[in-house]
Amino acid sequence: MDEREVEAVRRPIMAGWVTQGPEVAAFEREFAAYVGAEHACAVCNCTTALHLALLAVGVRPGDEVITVSHSFIATANSIHYCGAKPIFVDVQPATYNLDPKRIEEAITPRARAILAVHQMGMPCDLKAIKAIADHRCLPLVEDAACAIGSEINWNGSWEKIGKPHGHVACFSFHPRKVITTGDGGMLTTCNPEWDQQFRLYRQHGMSIPDTVRHSSSRVAFESYPMIGFNYRLTDIQAAVGREQIKRLPELIAVRRRLAERYRVLLADIDGLDLPHEPAWARSNWQSFCVRLPEHCDQRRIMQYLLDRGVSSRRGVMCAHRELPYQDSRNGHLHESESAQDRCIVLPLYPQMTEKEQNWVAQSLQSACRVVSRAA
Ligand SMILES: *Cc1c(COP(=O)(O)O)cnc(C)c1O
Repeated sequence: MDEREVEAVRRPIMAGWVTQGPEVAAFEREFAAYVGAEHACAVCNCTTALHLALLAVGVRPGDEVITVSHSFIATANSIHYCGAKPIFVDVQPATYNLDPKRIEEAITPRARAILAVHQMGMPCDLKAIKAIADHRCLPLVEDAACAIGSEINWNGSWEKIGKPHGHVACFSFHPRKVITTGDGGMLTTCNPEWDQQFRLYRQHGMSIPDTVRHSSSRVAFESYPMIGFNYRLTDIQAAVGREQIKRLPELIAVRRRLAERYRVLLADIDGLDLPHEPAWARSNWQSFCVRLPEHCDQRRIMQYLLDRGVSSRRGVMCAHRELPYQDSRNGHLHESESAQDRCIVLPLYPQMTEKEQNWVAQSLQSACRVVSRAA
């Protein structure tokens, strides 16, 4: 963010309408146009977006939702908020995404939806997952928190994640993602009824929104026919989001260049697995995740890097290893656990210089050498 975002927030502040007003409506239109969606509804973060998506597709207390453990914990929590239980299936080792072959065996009569994550911005195998969802008449929700600008080849043409290819897709604008509004989220769908429900739910179940009442020439009283939530995005955040969307093509181009460069710089490290991008997928490279050689202890590698000024992060967590979800597994989750234990995420950000990136690569190379010798 820079002066452009600072300038943008002047608009709502000087206009005086500062929450869920004209800036939010414009942000929704521009976001929908960017991903190619019919409807986009803004909310205050992606966790609330996931909650509303699951409610709208009919997830109720006692239901089960098929998803991955290998994700940020908000994925599982959104299922819990509906009173439902996540059923975790394992991921594919190459992409860290939901393994379609493991879905059928996890479906019981209580299954109500599939929640598929595009982990770290890499599109999951939507074609295969959608076929199973359609066959079993289960709605498919996409956790696209990290996947703004990622693309999937759909029947021969490249399409943005979020069209959506499932029934609803949910995005995050937390600073850890590719664009940010501080905090923020977006739901996209092609179902106008669900879009209406998102709008009711996000503002206390209010029948006539304040934007409509305040601009009406006739006195209008609203009612509250259902229990909703306060999941609003502010106009101040939306104004920032509108600037951030304009930057997306450039941000993603830079991320793709840096990811390609990492591939070259890291090619010679023995036993290091670089990220796999399937032929039908184009990642936005929200994260560049590498799997360490077998004999390299993750924590020691990360400490070695930190001592040289390189800040890495461990691979994506597993929710089933956390207290609230210890009995949610369906069969083994070996690949999920191994990915958490053996992967690290390397620095990758649009301002990164070639010199900085060279230093990361050199440091990782010597880390693997030193740590494996010490082991
Ligand atoms: C970041 C993230 C979320 C949560 O997004 P918030 O906007 O912080 O609520 C959910 N799922 C995944 C996969 C994420 O990476």
